Amino acid sequence: MDARGHIFDIQSFSVHDGPGCRTTVFMTGCPLQCRWCANPESWIYGKHLMFAQASCKWDKGCDVCLSVCPTGAITMEPGQPSQVDWNKCKDCHDFPCTSICPNRALKQCVREYTSDELLQILRRDFSSWGSNGGVTFSGGDPITQHDFLIEVLKGCQKLGIHTAIETSAHFPREKFLDVMQYIDFAFIDVKNMDSEAHKAGTSVGNELILDNIRALKQSGWKGRLVLRQPTICGYNDSEENAKKLISFMKENDLFEINLLKFHRLGQTKWEQLGKTYDYATGGEMTDEAMTALQSLYLDAGIACYIGHHTSF
Ligand code: SF4
Ligand code: SF4
Repeated sequence: MDARGHIFDIQSFSVHDGPGCRTTVFMTGCPLQCRWCANPESWIYGKHLMFAQASCKWDKGCDVCLSVCPTGAITMEPGQPSQVDWNKCKDCHDFPCTSICPNRALKQCVREYTSDELLQILRRDFSSWGSNGGVTFSGGDPITQHDFLIEVLKGCQKLGIHTAIETSAHFPREKFLDVMQYIDFAFIDVKNMDSEAHKAGTSVGNELILDNIRALKQSGWKGRLVLRQPTICGYNDSEENAKKLISFMKENDLFEINLLKFHRLGQTKWEQLGKTYDYATGGEMTDEAMTALQSLYLDAGIACYIGHHTSF
């Protein structure tokens, strides 16, 4: 087993990423680029820098990072916090600034693991999962790292570990179904039923995603599938969109959906990566609007959960 995975976080004791208590593994790489993404650090496959400027203690006289940066990527003007020129960090291998910063303003994101190393962590957490927990592969989109993921999933199967995935399903059919045969529980996002709108929000159309969901249902897969929709005012909160999704679900024998109310938890990460966040304003859903959407699904005989109020 020699594939190496790129992972930007591993969270034990997760209770919102599938049934029971779980360990969630956040893997880098994603075929989508959602304008509201809560984990934009996942878009960069390899190791990279995150800079929390608000934690920088330049005003207390700190400037130790300036001397260790081999490329001059960090600069500081008098009376100003340090600045990072991200282009100069692209080829940095050792990230010396992250070990010297006393305030964790500079952090290395993404670490490499072998499948054995990851399985060892999962074994460590085994006793905390209880009877119905397990591991959830998230991201980014874990299928981006297909070969590594398959190795880990085969290991999970041998150990009898319950497996869940959060995926966009935006992959070639064979690759997608290859992974899904090892998965017990899946969340697949359908962000918009209009392909042009889907592309405007995520950078890709929805055809491949819908086709793969159909193919999964027709494949005889025995797992549990819950569709998910990050629900964003003005983007995908219309009755028309809900009705199209309800029709699609009924045509494909799908009876569970989880609506996630728009939030801005990822905003600071965009800033720490030197990116502009499009949803600094707008997009908020009221509780009443979420409940009205939920009613459309419930009236159609579809179990619709809002946020963390789920049946799993
Ligand atoms: S990651 Fe490397 S190049 Fe970038 S600021 Fe830190 S030391 Fe400099
Ligand atoms: S070492 Fe950290 S706290 Fe000090 S100036 Fe650099 S980024 Fe700021």
